[in-house]
Amino acid sequence: MEFTARIGKREGLARSIARSGALGLIERLPASRTLLALNYHRIGDPLSTPYDPTVYSATANELRLQMEYVSRHCTVISVSEVLRWLEEGNPPAKRACYALITFDDAYLDNYEIAFPILKSIGIPAVFFVPTAFIGTGRVPWWDAIAFLLKNSRRRIFPLAYPTMIKIDLESNPLLLELSRLLAMYKQPSMTDGERFLSELAEACEASLPGVSAERSFCNWLELRQMLDAGMAVEAHTHTHPILSQLPEDQQQIELATCSNLIKERLGLAPRTLAYPVGMHSSFTEATKHAATRAGFKAAFSFYGGMNSFPLRDPLDLRREAVGYQSIERFRSQVATGRAWGGIWP
Ligand SMILES: [Zn+2]
Repeated sequence: MEFTARIGKREGLARSIARSGALGLIERLPASRTLLALNYHRIGDPLSTPYDPTVYSATANELRLQMEYVSRHCTVISVSEVLRWLEEGNPPAKRACYALITFDDAYLDNYEIAFPILKSIGIPAVFFVPTAFIGTGRVPWWDAIAFLLKNSRRRIFPLAYPTMIKIDLESNPLLLELSRLLAMYKQPSMTDGERFLSELAEACEASLPGVSAERSFCNWLELRQMLDAGMAVEAHTHTHPILSQLPEDQQQIELATCSNLIKERLGLAPRTLAYPVGMHSSFTEATKHAATRAGFKAAFSFYGGMNSFPLRDPLDLRREAVGYQSIERFRSQVATGRAWGGIWP
């Protein structure tokens, strides 16, 4: 399968400012006082997976280069520091771009690949874990959707739920059709995930993937080691639903179950939460209310952007996704964010 994430206008722009020397000048500008929370998912080779390739953020080598870059140009902090700023209500004294490194979903590669890199560079990160996945070979909905599409026997087929859509693998690249299906699943109106997956399987004439024979998520022992080495393990719900698709009492159960399990297994109650998917439409005021009631002091979204001081809404701290991008684009984004508080290109 073709993986075209590194082609496009923004990639071209980033490479030309790196080549022109302009990037070097931006890197030498004084830093603005901001918080840049970077978000990663899987680390490794997106071409090697039978599941969703778009959930890969970087290869091992790229992650190392990116972490070395961030530790040189920003002040890398832990999630405790963010909580301290929120509690005290004061901006940090030093004028710097503070970087928080975050990972979502607790895939095994977070432990096997990312953790040793972070440890060797000596920077902390926070891992947001969906507790029902821990130690399992579960195939989450995004991976199941990608698996079905990759194994589809039909090249063109309609899908009726939650809205009518025609998938056309004859004319469109698989990644484009995958992104359309993932976007459909993420709509707040999509309230029956099982129905969506079974109708997709039927339309594709493919079988839904079973639980993977190999473990695909970290186990508690691995999370414990990460915690002992200075990493933070925080909440990402129990079963990774899109919270805005659930009634408030179920949201509450998702958050409380996750929090209680982390506390029970690791001895530390999580204080922060990352909303699954984390788009504007993935959480509501009811979600924030449920998060507060479950004891969370802060929560992270995923629709992009940086945070200025004083931090405005502790239950909507912004994170910038690291997609599968070139090192030039990563450098440009961090450098512009550091200097001007806005990510570009
Ligand atoms: Zn997630």
